Formats: sequence, structure tokens, C-alpha cells
Amino acid sequence: MGLWIYNYLTREKERFEPLQEGYVGMYACGPTVYDHAHLGHAKTYVALDVMVRYLRYRDYDVRYVQNITDVGHLLDSGEDRIIRKARLERVEPMEVAATYERSYFEDMDALGVQRPNIAPRASGHIPEQIQIVQTLLEKGYAYETERGDVYFSVEMVDDYGKLSGRDVEDLEAGARVDVREEKRHPADFALWKHADPEHILRWPSPWGWGYPGWHVECTAMATRYLGETFDIHGGGVDNIFPHNECEIAQSEAATGKPFARYWVLTGSLTVDNVKMSKSLGNFVTIKDALETYSPEAIRFFILSSHYRKPVDYSREAMLGAERGVERLHNTVRSLRQRKERVAPSATVDRSEANLLSSYSERFLEAMNDDFNTPRAIAALFDLNRDVNELLNSGKSLGQATLDAIDDVYRELGGDVLGIIPDQLTDEASGELVEGLMEIILGIRQQYRRNKDWQEADALRDRLAELGIVVDDRPEGPIWRLGSGSG
Ligand SMILES: [Zn+2]
Repeated sequence: MGLWIYNYLTREKERFEPLQEGYVGMYACGPTVYDHAHLGHAKTYVALDVMVRYLRYRDYDVRYVQNITDVGHLLDSGEDRIIRKARLERVEPMEVAATYERSYFEDMDALGVQRPNIAPRASGHIPEQIQIVQTLLEKGYAYETERGDVYFSVEMVDDYGKLSGRDVEDLEAGARVDVREEKRHPADFALWKHADPEHILRWPSPWGWGYPGWHVECTAMATRYLGETFDIHGGGVDNIFPHNECEIAQSEAATGKPFARYWVLTGSLTVDNVKMSKSLGNFVTIKDALETYSPEAIRFFILSSHYRKPVDYSREAMLGAERGVERLHNTVRSLRQRKERVAPSATVDRSEANLLSSYSERFLEAMNDDFNTPRAIAALFDLNRDVNELLNSGKSLGQATLDAIDDVYRELGGDVLGIIPDQLTDEASGELVEGLMEIILGIRQQYRRNKDWQEADALRDRLAELGIVVDDRPEGPIWRLGSGSG
């Protein structure tokens, strides 16, 4: 069975054929480490994680490189995000970067996102970036300004805009030109920026003291670790322009060769149908989400939509996801308990073996169709329904059969999707907690209707002691895990 991937570059589903047989070089734009990672990051990196896991499941040797941006990613105001945070927190810029890089990997570990093989930092690859800028200058694709900035000239390449579908003429009309910049064309982008002495993150270069533009780091690190041409480039679709576009233009101009062969871009995440932003106060960090929901539920929620589609995070969606994983976990739990009680057997019953292979096939077909995780999950649920029936049927099942069923869960639900842990705990299930909370809040509502305020408050306080916060809303009480109000 071949693997088909929707290639953003051609806007077509293409059969995946790596450059070297059996080996996949994959790059993803990593986070800018100036704050805790949020659910948008979870969406991107869980989706890419499942691609990497699936490629490995298919026996490809994958080298997955994901950079850490610790310099050069500027705000619209022109200020470096990390330097700004360092100023606000009165610490060294590299302390900001180190703190949030650690925080990022803590979150990814908690979500079961496998670590990249290499997570190179932009600040650790300044000579490589300078080298690329120099090559682009020598080849005539870039120019230096009087104050020591170096820009890439978009008019020098014919196919600038090929990934995002934008063209240079439109960009000219829409671009906001900063008067301090001496660009030849409004769409030209900075490869190297001159830095005044008060700019802390700066390095010597042939063009004086400065720092690299954001885009050039990805070219430097991707080509250094994966070669001038490599298989897959991934990232969030929000970075398609200008970042990914600039990566392609400067890489191909510098090397004269195609950059990434397949571009996989993930859809964005909204919260209650609104784009997440700090100013709106609807910014949900991964740490926040993990306080309330299990990591498997967060992954399940993300993977229930196809990676290219946007997803909307809401309490209802998360409770649905929590129930979904719990259904799978409950079956796997009883399956594993049953395994401990049966006598060893050597052969798998034929009818069960057929059942398993038909569901595995459906799962793999879905994954081969551009990593269609919602369809793969649907196959897993159908399997789950049949396994439940089987376990409850009274039929005697040998250990080999039970092992074979468990292997399917381990491989497809565990190794590939990362939603079924190897070790399932026997903790009270989310479904059970939901049910109990419904009963408790019902009792408390009864107290309130009877004006037994003391009883109602006492119940609320006892829940608070357990870390459960109850909010009385006009439409009825809701609860969440946490402390205080908010
Ligand atoms: Zn990048």
C-alpha cells in the first residue's frame, strides 16, 4: 500500500517517494521560545508527531529536525520577541530562551510528542546563516544597504510566491513600507539586520555587527542536517507567508536545487470559534489544558480532525474527546485484565484474526490517504465495538487471541496515534467523574431550590477542597478543575 501525501507545493495528493529508499528527512519550523507553548502549538506538533510515528511504523528511518528560534523573530514593532521578554522580566535573553525551550519540551513530553532527532537552535548556527547570506550576495540574489542590512531581492527569482500562491505585484500594492528600511522592493525581506550596541543578541559579520533575519535560520539548519534537497517540510499553515515562502526562495537561490519536496501544513486552532490571542484573554497554554484534560484526550481531540483542517477547542469538544479515549481505554483495560486470567494458548482463532486484519487494513488505508486520522480513529472505534461484543459474548478466548487483539491496540492506538498508553492506570475514569459530578451538582441544586444555602455552600466548599471549582451560571452550574475564579 502506497502512502499519499497532500503536497501544498503542487496542491495535489501525491504518492510519497523519498529521495533515498527507506530514509525520510523531515524538517518542521519549531517554536519561538519567548513564552509557554499554547494549544496552537499542540495542534501543529501532535499532527506532525503522528506523521513521524506513522512513517516509522512503515519502517522508514526518519530523521526529524525541528528548530528552536531563539533569535531574530521580530514583532511587528521591529522588536525581537525574546529581547522584549528579557527586558520585561529583567533577565538575560538567553535565560528567556532556555526557560521556554525547557517548558516547550516539558509540554511536548507530557503530550507524548516524540522528541525530534535534532532540535537545533538558531543562535547556535550563526556562521551557517552568515554563509548563506554571503552566497546569496555573491550570486546577486541579495544586496547590502548603507547601514549594514542585507535584503533578499524577490524580483530576482521567477517563482517567488509559489507555495502561498501570492504574486509579487499584489505584494507591492499591499506592503507596508517602513521608512527606515532601504528596500528596493516592498516585498524584499531581511537576511541580516544591522544591530546597534544596545541590541544584546548580536554577532560580528562581514556587514558589521548584527543578527540574522528570522527566515534564514530554517534554510541554514534544514540544509545542514538534511541536505540541500530533502523530503518533507512541515509546519503550521499560519507560517506559509512570508516565512515558508522566504525559506524556499532563499534556499533554492543559494543552492540552485529544489528545497523541500513535500510541504505538509497543518490547519489552525480556534478557541470557542475565536482566534487565540493574548489581548482577547482566550489564550490557552498547554499547561492550562493539561490541568483539566488528559494528554490522550488532547491528542484525540486534535487527531479527530484531519491535520489540514482547522479545529475549535471548547469544553464540549474536550469532554467528547475525554469520553472517546475513555471508551477505548475501558475496553483495553478489560482486555488486559482478561489476559491475566486465561491459560496460555498458541494460536489465534481464525475468525478473530480475520476481524483484526480487516480493521487494521481500514486503519492503514486511512493513514495512507494523507494521514487521515479521523478515519483511522473511526476504524479503531468499530474494532472497539466488536471487541467489546466479543469480550461480553461468553465465548472462550485463548491468550494468543487476546494478545493479538492487544497488539493491534498497542500498535495502532499506541505507537501510531499515541492515544492508548502501554500502561493503563486504574484511576477513576473521566466518564465516571463526569457522572458523579452530575449527581453531586444535582443534589446541590436541590439544596438551592429548597433555600438550604448552608448545605449548598458546604458541598461547594468540600468540592473546592478536592480542587473542583463550581461556577453558578444562569443556565445552571458548571464545574472545572482548578483554583480560584476566572
Ligand atoms: Zn521555519
